[in-house]
Amino acid sequence: MLKVRSYSDSDKTRVVIDLSEKTEFKANKLTNPDKIFIDIIGSILKLEDTFKEIEINDGILKTVRTAQFNEEITRVVFDLYQEVKYNIFSLTDPDRVVIDIFRPEKKSEPLLETLPPKPEEKPVPEPKVTGKRVVIIDPGHGGSDPGAIGPTGLKESEVTLKVALHLEELLKKAGIPTYLTRYKNDFISLEDRVNFANQKNGFIFVSIHANSTLNNRPTAIGTETFVLSSKYIGASAKDVADRENRASRAHPEVDADLASIIGDL
Ligand SMILES: [Zn+2]
Repeated sequence: MLKVRSYSDSDKTRVVIDLSEKTEFKANKLTNPDKIFIDIIGSILKLEDTFKEIEINDGILKTVRTAQFNEEITRVVFDLYQEVKYNIFSLTDPDRVVIDIFRPEKKSEPLLETLPPKPEEKPVPEPKVTGKRVVIIDPGHGGSDPGAIGPTGLKESEVTLKVALHLEELLKKAGIPTYLTRYKNDFISLEDRVNFANQKNGFIFVSIHANSTLNNRPTAIGTETFVLSSKYIGASAKDVADRENRASRAHPEVDADLASIIGDL
């Protein structure tokens, strides 16, 4: 067992336990105090000390504690505020066990009294982030992939690059480190964009596009903002995603990679 990572969301907290190989696991819950534990069987703890007890305190999960239970079992204990619904599953490549712990339905008692300290006061450990957070700006399309083409022949790839360069200027003025996935009219595959962002340790990935409409509606104006979500996306959002991702259709394996990245978040 190598690492424990957690992600707090408004409706759930996800904890990912990274393993060096596929192993079996067993899970159970206890009450009074409420906790869930996962026993990773045939696993030897190789965690750095910082991962052995992680304070979450996000209103769903208090702490995650990890210890070698016996010669064969590593036990991961999730200390809760109250009884919750949860879902545990394993993923491969890399091997990991994932638990989603869902925020309980709101009760009639006032929220303020039951909420723990705000996450700002006790940030979730993010071992990768040091110093200033890096913004990766991704001008959509480029090179042989022009994206949408306007009535005057204007290419989406030109618009996105100009917007990206302007955004970079604004962020640099504000002292925020930035990288662009492309500075010229180059074709960059979606997987290379993702790899680049990870290499540069990006805290946030801002992909800029100028969308087209399917049925030629000249009245369509405004902006659309998409954020990564594990929840259902509507059919029209899926249409846009399908059109935007066409550039990687030549590499079907990328879809599986992206799916696993999204599933991991
Ligand atoms: Zn686009």
